[in-house]
Amino acid sequence: MMTAINKANLPPRQKYDVVIGLEVHAELNTKSKIFCSCSTSPQIDKNGNPLPNSSVCPVCMALPGALPVLNKMAVEKTITAGLCFGCQINKVTVYDRKNYFYPDLPKAYQISQMFHPICLEGSVSLSNGRVIRLNRIHSEEDAGKLLHDDINDQTLIDFNRCGVPLIEIVTEPDIKSAAEAAEFLREVRSRLTFAGISDAQMELGQMRCDVNVSLKPIGQIKLGNRVELKNLNSFKMVERSIQYEIKRQTALLDDGKKITVETRKWNDAKQITTSMRNKEAANDYRYFPDPDQYPVHLPASYIQKLKKALPKLSGDYKKDFINLGLTPYDTEILTREKKITELFLETCKMNKDYKKIANIIINSKDPLTKNQIIEKLNFKPTNTDRARLTDIIQKIFAAGYENNKPIDKLINYFMGKVMQATKGEADPELTKEIIKSFLTEK
Ligand code: ADP
Ligand code: MG
Ligand code: ZN
Repeated sequence: MMTAINKANLPPRQKYDVVIGLEVHAELNTKSKIFCSCSTSPQIDKNGNPLPNSSVCPVCMALPGALPVLNKMAVEKTITAGLCFGCQINKVTVYDRKNYFYPDLPKAYQISQMFHPICLEGSVSLSNGRVIRLNRIHSEEDAGKLLHDDINDQTLIDFNRCGVPLIEIVTEPDIKSAAEAAEFLREVRSRLTFAGISDAQMELGQMRCDVNVSLKPIGQIKLGNRVELKNLNSFKMVERSIQYEIKRQTALLDDGKKITVETRKWNDAKQITTSMRNKEAANDYRYFPDPDQYPVHLPASYIQKLKKALPKLSGDYKKDFINLGLTPYDTEILTREKKITELFLETCKMNKDYKKIANIIINSKDPLTKNQIIEKLNFKPTNTDRARLTDIIQKIFAAGYENNKPIDKLINYFMGKVMQATKGEADPELTKEIIKSFLTEK
């Protein structure tokens, strides 16, 4: 039997392609700032709050005559970021001045990279199989913070953040939806945190995102006029602001109107975007190489060394966990945060019921600690009796072993033996420490 279709119930046919490009800023977790020796952590007052302007010097406050000296670790961590995304690393990199006037940066220029960034290209693959290409990852300094005090009608400046090293990850306009943008950002966050180069906590402003959105008639090659949404600092804000922009731009195009190229701001209370200013163009900034600094040479052997030192990333752990028999869903959640991955791995050293451990971690609302999981699993108490463990390890050593293996392999070998002897009850940290002391005594 034929059924009549009520057209009003059908979803509207999609008329436009959505085109999105992201610019992601992440603070690197170096000890000192990028061009001076000030600490990146400000001093704390007696209530535990950061003291404004407590970590500043003539360089990061831009006093006349002060000269920048590049922090090697900021370069190194930017290269590591590039290696996490399969970027090419430039053999020579140069810092440029990006000129603009705003009181959060008293030099009236930001030291950034335009023409020879540290990293080029690279990509991220999404779960739907689509590949998001990166244009570049460059290194730059952060600006200070302005605090608007409405009661006294004044603006205060805190320079602590001035000179904190940032990376900026710029994508090609390859993203097609709010959900893809959010997945991309989660993957970026995960790679940066697993690589140990940024804490990337969006709620603390350690990772911030500008979103560029445009529409074009389906199939058209030429991109439409874009709108830039500034400084979104949560995944939710990124998704909501994109959804709102798609609706707003669709309505304008449907009315035959043009999209104004502009910078817009997300109003989280009203859940709308509002116009901020006309979009500036690159030539407004009059970029030029910073004459205070030399070009930086990055030899292939140095890049190779950093590549070798790259720790396991979330993708590697995903494969491991699938091999342990966990589902893709479990695996995805257990590798979102480095802390959670570590907690899972630590707990697995003491009990082999991986699925049960995974369930406890995944289903708990509050972040768990190792001890709470042990309690929930009804583990036998961990053996932290140093004298007893030393005795056990001594006996294992006395039985003899092949001494020609690298130390890491030897430690693993003895860990296995101790766990066997104690039925997995030995405290792994303590066991490792005692094994090490036995091995280095020799
Ligand atoms: P800026 O925003 O600093 O002027 P770019 O011109 O390099 O810098 O563009 C920044 C971002 O905007 C990139 O992520 C790029 O992919 C994206 N982008 C460029 N054109 C469009 C467009 N028409 N629609 C959506 N995103 C775009
Ligand atoms: Mg931009
Ligand atoms: Zn300083």
